[in-house]
Amino acid sequence: MSFAVGIDLGTTNSVVAVATPTGVEFALGPQGERVHPSVVAFPPGGGVVCGTEAKARRVREPDTTVYSAKRLIGQNIKSPLVQLALTGLPFAVEEGPNQQPIVVTRDRRLTVPEVSGQVLAYLKRCAERQLGQRVSQAVVTVPANFSDGQRQATKEAGRLAGLEVLRLLNEPTAAALAYGFGQHKDEVVCVFDFGGGTFDVSLLAIKDEVFEVLATDGDFFLGGDDLDRAIAEFLAAEMNRQLHVDPRPDPALMTRLVLAGEEIKVHLSAHASAEGVIDGLHHQGRELQLPFRLTRAQLENMVRGFVDRAIDLTRNVLTAAHIDPKMVTEVVCVGGTTRVPMVRQRLAELFGREPALRINPDEVVAQGAAIQAGSLAGSLFHGPARSARDAVPTAALSPLAHGGVPWAAPVAPARPILLDVTPAALRIATAGGFTEEILERNLPTPIERTRTFTTARDHQTQVVIECCRGDARKADGNEALGRLLLEGLPPRRRGEVRIDVTFRVDQDGILHVRARDADTGIAQEAELEVLGAPAAA
Ligand code: AMP
Repeated sequence: MSFAVGIDLGTTNSVVAVATPTGVEFALGPQGERVHPSVVAFPPGGGVVCGTEAKARRVREPDTTVYSAKRLIGQNIKSPLVQLALTGLPFAVEEGPNQQPIVVTRDRRLTVPEVSGQVLAYLKRCAERQLGQRVSQAVVTVPANFSDGQRQATKEAGRLAGLEVLRLLNEPTAAALAYGFGQHKDEVVCVFDFGGGTFDVSLLAIKDEVFEVLATDGDFFLGGDDLDRAIAEFLAAEMNRQLHVDPRPDPALMTRLVLAGEEIKVHLSAHASAEGVIDGLHHQGRELQLPFRLTRAQLENMVRGFVDRAIDLTRNVLTAAHIDPKMVTEVVCVGGTTRVPMVRQRLAELFGREPALRINPDEVVAQGAAIQAGSLAGSLFHGPARSARDAVPTAALSPLAHGGVPWAAPVAPARPILLDVTPAALRIATAGGFTEEILERNLPTPIERTRTFTTARDHQTQVVIECCRGDARKADGNEALGRLLLEGLPPRRRGEVRIDVTFRVDQDGILHVRARDADTGIAQEAELEVLGAPAAA
C-alpha cells in the first residue's frame, strides 16, 4: 500500500501530514518533532543531513548548511529580490545555466530544486517511518503569489524526491480547507500567513464544501527572518559597543547572532523583556560572551515597519475584493510570526475581532494539504474533518498516535471544491517596449483566454511572444516569465497576419501559452521555459 501525504514546504520549516481513516496525523522527526527545519547540511565526512540535525549545524558550518531555498526556487539569479536574499546568506550561490541560482557546498553544485528535493525526500522518509508504508504521492503547498517558474521548480523538487505531486495547493486555500472543511460554513475568512520568509494574505468565501479565493496578495521577502535580522543588528551594535568587536564581516558570528535573535524574539512573544548572555561567539581563537537586555516595546519599535507592510497588504486585499473588514467572520493565522503579540493586536484593530486562537499556525497548512491529498488519491478518505478549532483529541475520538487531528463522526463523504485566483496580471510584450494584459489579477482559475495580435513589420515570418507578470504598462516594469517562438508565418504586410495568443492557467497555477497563426493554423504551444527554472522542468 502507498500513501499520499500533504506537505507544507516552508521557507524556514516544513510539516508533513497524512489523512488516515481516523484523522490527520503528523509525521514526526527522529527527535519527536512535528515541525522540521527546511535545512540541508553537507557534513565534512560526506553525505547529506536534513531537518533538526541540519539546523544544529548552521552555526558550526555556516557555509555548507543550506536554508531558505524557497527564497531562491524557480527564480532568476539576476532578479533584484534574489540578489537581496543572497546578501544575507552565508553559503555560496553562483549563476548556473539559464541564469538559475546554483548552491555550491564543498565539492557539490546543486540546483535549488535539488536542495528542496532533499528536504522533500527527508519529509517523505519521516512519513514512511511513521506509517510503516511507502509514500509515493503528495500535495505540496506553495504561496498563492508564487510565479509560474517557482511552481514548476517546486514540482521538479517533488519529482527529484521520488514523489508524484498530485497538486500544488496554495497555502491559504489549504489553511481555509483545514479550518472549514466538513463544517457546513457560510463565511468570509481572512487567511493571514506570516511565516519565516514570506508573507501572504488571502480572503476566501467558504460555502459548504466550496472554497473560493476572492483576492490574494503577498510579499516574498517579508517574514520572521527580517525580525531576527533586526535583533541581530541590535546585538551586533551591542557587541561593538561592549566588546569592541564588529561581527558584521564574520558570517559565523552573524549567524550566531541571528539565531540568538530568533530565540529572543520568541521569548518576547510571551514575556515583556528578555535578558541574558549570548555565548558561543568565537572570535580570533577566543570565545566571547555578550550580555544583552531587550524589551518587547524596543522590539516593536525595531520591527514596526515590517508589521505595517503586512497590514497594508491586508488592506489591499480587502479593497480588491470589495470586502469591509466587518464582513470577515474569522481571521485564520498561519505561520509562526503570527504569534508576535503586536501582529495579533494590529489584526484585532483592523478586523474588530481577535484572530482565531484555536488554530495551530504551524500545522494548519499541512493539515489542509493532507485533506486534499486524501481526497485526490481517493484513499482512506471517509469524511469531513473536524476543523482545527474543534480538534480536541479525546480518548474516544483519537486513536491516533502523536496527537493528530481526528475526523468528526459519523462520516459523510464529501469532496472539497477549490476555486483559486491568478495572483498577478499576466501580459505579453508588444512593440515599443510596452505590454498588453492577457489575464488580470484575481481571476478565478483554472482559466483560459485568447487575444489576437498582429505583426509589427512587413514580411515578418516569425514572432517572439515574451510573457511577463505584473501591473506595469512598460515591459521592463514587469517580471519576465519566458518566451515562445512562432515561426513559418506567411510573409505579408505588417498588420495583415493575425496571431491568436492563448494563456491557460491550470489548477496548479502553471501557465501554458499557445500562439497560433489564425489563417494558416501554424501553432506553437509550451509550458514556458522559465528563466531560472531547471531545463527539465
Ligand atoms: P513558519 O515559516 O511558518 O514555520 O514560521 C517560522 C517563523 O515563525 C520563524 O521566523 C520563527 O522564528 C517564527 N516564530 C515561531 N514561533 C514564534 C513565536 N512564538 N513568536 C514569534 N515568532 C515565532
